[in-house]
Amino acid sequence: MRTFVHESSPGRVVFGADVVDRVGDEVRRLGGNRPLVVSGPSRRSVDRVRRGLDPLAVGEFAGAAMHAPVEVTEQALTELRRHRADCVVSIGGGSATGLSKALAARTDLPQVVIPTTYSGSEVTSVLGETSQGRKTTRSSPMLLPETVLYDVNLTLGLPVAASVTSAVNAMAHAVEALYSPQANGLVDAVALAAIRMIGPGLSGIRVDPRDTECRAALLEAAWLAGMTLASAGMGLHHKLCHVLGGSFGLAHAPTHTVVLPHVLAYNSPAIGRTTARIADALGVGDAAVGLAHTIRDLGGPVSLRALGLREADLPEVARRAVAAPYANPRPVEQAPLEALLRIAWEGGDPR
Ligand code: NAD
Repeated sequence: MRTFVHESSPGRVVFGADVVDRVGDEVRRLGGNRPLVVSGPSRRSVDRVRRGLDPLAVGEFAGAAMHAPVEVTEQALTELRRHRADCVVSIGGGSATGLSKALAARTDLPQVVIPTTYSGSEVTSVLGETSQGRKTTRSSPMLLPETVLYDVNLTLGLPVAASVTSAVNAMAHAVEALYSPQANGLVDAVALAAIRMIGPGLSGIRVDPRDTECRAALLEAAWLAGMTLASAGMGLHHKLCHVLGGSFGLAHAPTHTVVLPHVLAYNSPAIGRTTARIADALGVGDAAVGLAHTIRDLGGPVSLRALGLREADLPEVARRAVAAPYANPRPVEQAPLEALLRIAWEGGDPR
């Protein structure tokens, strides 16, 4: 018998094509008049958002960076105060969403988030921030964006390589939710639905990156996977990725892509039936090896070495994960973890 505590996050989701044009209405719905638009340095789609916000008085900060460095948040906060903003609109991937949440954490202003990757951060009340080489995570209902606009047309140009890694990032939320202590019938159903949608979605955009139906499937899967992340705790996989990203500077989504099959293999002996359900949803025989081969066939990254991790750092990565582990079905121990990391570093098949 499973025992669990389940909490569902509130939040409004608007999903479709060109829904970005409704951003002004959504801001006004939250009582906002002076939005600050935050994005990454590329300012991708920012002008489109500004048009949607017209004639509201719009401030802008285009400095969002991966893993929400606190120095960047301080700069954005200065801009927010200078502009006397009464809400935040973010446009971009998890980095822009993270900055929006970091601002909400410090001001409690409402947020309208427009995600352009599959990170799922927009539906969670969790924020990972970095300061002086350490990533810390905080969680509060205050961080949860009030409104999410999923505009499939804003994702059509996400390069296939970035789509693969971002979609595997989404899959990692669903996979870890399935074996989390909070797993229940609702989490299972949502997580498995997300996993089922991701494979065909990625195969489709490899053929035609602008295939709207496949893009919509991936974006909806990202939302579903994000919902599982919001209601279930994450395990070893997320712990390792937080250490690798926050302390060793590895890129977020590619790191998830390399690590996930290896953690699946590590945890498999402790989660037999769940592994079989994941394999079934993926349409492969063995979940870990099947996922690794799917990622390789899609052209995704397969080794931590290629992502820039030094071999000498492997024991320290394991030590940090062992020192403060997240709840995980199999005990997190130094020697087997180092072995896992070594295979992931070399790019071998998970075992
Ligand atoms: P990102 O936001 O940094 O985006 C990666 C790259 O893709 C950037 O160069 C960006 O400009 C580009 N990009 C984004 N959308 C694009 C599009 N539609 N077309 C073309 N290029 C596009 O990376 P990410 O993987 O989306 O997010 C990573 C961040 O999100 C990390 O900081 C991570 O910690 C955080 N995150 C948080 C949670 C949470 O629940 N708190 C969940 C997942 C990720």
